[in-house]
Amino acid sequence: MAGSYYRVRCSDCENEQIVFGKASSEVACAVCGTTLAVPTGGKAEIDHEILETVESR
Ligand SMILES: [Zn+2]
Repeated sequence: MAGSYYRVRCSDCENEQIVFGKASSEVACAVCGTTLAVPTGGKAEIDHEILETVESR
């Protein structure tokens, strides 16, 4: 499966942001700075609501 992206809603400020599913570094919310995704060596761990999966092409 090629890398896919997730549309994630920040649980702190409700900003919606696209996050790469295999992020190799922490992804922070662009609005409030909360960590949205934590790299785990493979699939990123996302502790926020995932609104949809966006397949890359
Ligand atoms: Zn936020």
